[in-house]
Amino acid sequence: MNEYIKLLKEQDKLNISIDLNKKFNWKHFKIAGPCSVEGESIIEISKEIAKCGADALRAGAYKPCTYPILKETNGWKEGLRKEGLELLKEAKKQSGLPIVTEVMDASMIEEVSEVADIFQIGTRNFQNYTLLDALGKSNTPVLLKRGTWGTLDEILGACERILVGGNENIAICLRGVVGAPSYRHVFPSIRWAPDLMMIPALKELCDIPIIYDPSHSTGYRNFVPAISKAAIAAGADGLIVESHPNPKESISDADQAITIETLKEIIGSI
Ligand code: PEP
Ligand code: MN
Repeated sequence: MNEYIKLLKEQDKLNISIDLNKKFNWKHFKIAGPCSVEGESIIEISKEIAKCGADALRAGAYKPCTYPILKETNGWKEGLRKEGLELLKEAKKQSGLPIVTEVMDASMIEEVSEVADIFQIGTRNFQNYTLLDALGKSNTPVLLKRGTWGTLDEILGACERILVGGNENIAICLRGVVGAPSYRHVFPSIRWAPDLMMIPALKELCDIPIIYDPSHSTGYRNFVPAISKAAIAAGADGLIVESHPNPKESISDADQAITIETLKEIIGSI
């Protein structure tokens, strides 16, 4: 075992971290919603998501895209940005669901915290240390998505940064990693490989809750139900699932979005 991690484990410091009384309750936490806020539709969607038994609504107002120009459409430019946050505020009011939405930069924390109950940190920012340090000073729970390249010790190190800053309300989101090209000839939307073994590996070392993302890790909607169940069986505490009333019409990540009906089945089956 890595010497530093071993030392932390021996000194019981991997959970320096977690004050169980103060900690946000991530157990059995099911987060669902479209990849991004696409317009006023998010308000109706949020109510549908609530009816399925989800615990929180996810949707990005700020959406870092691999190809930034390609998807510009009707004011949606890597998200609806400020307008997206306003719509999320209304969705929260009408559905009663807490909001999970992305913060891309430390300078955005204040603005996004007016709406977000949980900050989502995207894979691209997994090692943005300025951002992680700033999140440590925040009181808002953080869902830290694993970088597509992130090793086990890098995951722990990224968490440590937030925890030592004083924010104990964090969960790790596993969302697939590099290494999926073997599928791409047949299923072109598959970009990442599911990282299920990281669940028991992390559980061996720390008590930081794990939320599994079966959407980005598969990239293909037909695989989402199976990988959701597999993640729970492997010990994940909860799920974050991209779901949309018309999955094929999704502005971003259309191939992996599932219908609201499928979401309901998944939530009922775990
Ligand atoms: C997302 O959750 O929509 C997203 C962009 O995720 P990731 O940062 O893991 O790619
Ligand atoms: Mn997405």
